[in-house]
Amino acid sequence: MLNTLISSIKRWHNKSKAAEGEAHGDSGQSGSGQPPTSSSRPPRSSGKPANSSSHSRTVVSRSDHCLSRRDVSRAALTVMKRLQEAGFEAYIVGGGVRDLLLGGHPKDFDVATDATPEQAKQLFRGARIVGRRFRILHARIGREVIEVTTFRGHHSDGEAHEAQQSEHGMLLRDNVYGDLESDAVRRDFTVNALYYTTNGFEIHDYTGGIQDIEQRLIRMIGDPETRYKEDPVRMLRAVRFAAKLDFDIEPNTAAPLRELAPLLRNIAPARLFDEVLKLLMSGHGERTFELLREYELWPHLFPDNARMLEHPEALALTRQALRNTDTRIRSDQRVTPAFLYAALLWPAVNSEQQFLESKGIPPVPALAQSAQKITSAQLAHTAIPKRFSMPMREIWDMQSRLPRRGGERAFRLMEMPRFRAAYDFLLLREDSGEIPAGLGQWWTDFQQADEEQRQLMVREVPRNGPRGNKNRGRRSRGGRNRNRSKRPGSGTERPAD
Ligand code: ATP
Ligand code: MG
Repeated sequence: MLNTLISSIKRWHNKSKAAEGEAHGDSGQSGSGQPPTSSSRPPRSSGKPANSSSHSRTVVSRSDHCLSRRDVSRAALTVMKRLQEAGFEAYIVGGGVRDLLLGGHPKDFDVATDATPEQAKQLFRGARIVGRRFRILHARIGREVIEVTTFRGHHSDGEAHEAQQSEHGMLLRDNVYGDLESDAVRRDFTVNALYYTTNGFEIHDYTGGIQDIEQRLIRMIGDPETRYKEDPVRMLRAVRFAAKLDFDIEPNTAAPLRELAPLLRNIAPARLFDEVLKLLMSGHGERTFELLREYELWPHLFPDNARMLEHPEALALTRQALRNTDTRIRSDQRVTPAFLYAALLWPAVNSEQQFLESKGIPPVPALAQSAQKITSAQLAHTAIPKRFSMPMREIWDMQSRLPRRGGERAFRLMEMPRFRAAYDFLLLREDSGEIPAGLGQWWTDFQQADEEQRQLMVREVPRNGPRGNKNRGRRSRGGRNRNRSKRPGSGTERPAD
């Protein structure tokens, strides 16, 4: 599929170049060094471009691309049809087009139109206008919700109540409407600014996105520094798409990242929480984590995790937690932010707990205090909704209970709602070398044993048996890659959430 598309795009590029005898110049990436894009029509100017350079327009006709109406969800097709029948333009844009061109399965389809949110709302029963900074329409078709956005215009054209920018260049409000061309240059990356319409079945490309898909590049539209300052979350998005699509970040797009990373401090923690889930819980978390570290964005998301990464166990635990999450997502198992957050914050919680214990505070209150301190510090960066922070704390609490399993305790522990997650967490700690292996295997065996064997096992628990927390810092003899295939439901059951 990918090869077919690419060769068809290449064929089209060559055909179009030969037909026109020349390639049109700059496609709008000021200073980006992108080769010129060929165009089926002369470049069109929209009056006031977002930056000083103009964009060439490319239209890929139906016969020259492999994107088919059949690949698009029924709901998105219905939304487009209804808008078109009412006399509006309607296009699929963003991840829907990008992922289909790459042979993937888009997670959703977004529609762009020249209808205002109010006009579009009239066409869909029960539709809702959401957002303040960007007003968009949620149109519900059956079970699917399609996001319908009105073409954005150039910010400088806006009245104060429609457009607002902070003193740092951050867009506080962006509800100036425009046309398809102005909309394209307001999007983030060229590969996200491709428009597909069922009215003619063409793909419209104003920013060189097709070429960047071919070259597997994440390239910011316009001046990267200005665009990151307008919305610092775009820095995270650059990394997210690079990891997800296995693309490179084009050098000019990558250049300002390290210097501008501290701007993430200006983003609301609730928005950053949502972004973190997209970054780390979409099946490419481990690769995303490595890129976030490379571009020095990670310390602005998880400072307490970042400062612990110089300890090999903390790095191993973080990587392993992300790898496990990726594996579960790829095999369609559920994952919960509670478990992931528990893992990311654990090295700092554990270290603080040890410090408090060294000051004479008993283990239970020491854990409670350290958990409180590290969680509150994290909340200043990314929110953690209560429905995740509560189970996260329980997973930590259970770590000191899992070693105490004599008598009836083991049976009671196994009935607890957070047992499964706590057990998985224990294995993670053993795998990372934070604590020696042993206790995890005991619990594995206990879950697989029948009633009689279980009674025997609890009777044989050494009075001072392996106490996970007491052996901190020693690497397991079994190594972190021991075969875990015998674990009950290992990799098949989800951590309780
Ligand atoms: P996916 O849905 O697979 O995560 P996507 O590209 O569809 O990827 P969305 O967050 O759904 O991403 O956004 C849809 C489109 O809206 C993007 O492709 C992009 O064109 C535009 N967009 C989203 N966020 C921004 C932003 N912060 N700045 C500029 N454009 C954006
Ligand atoms: Mg999307």
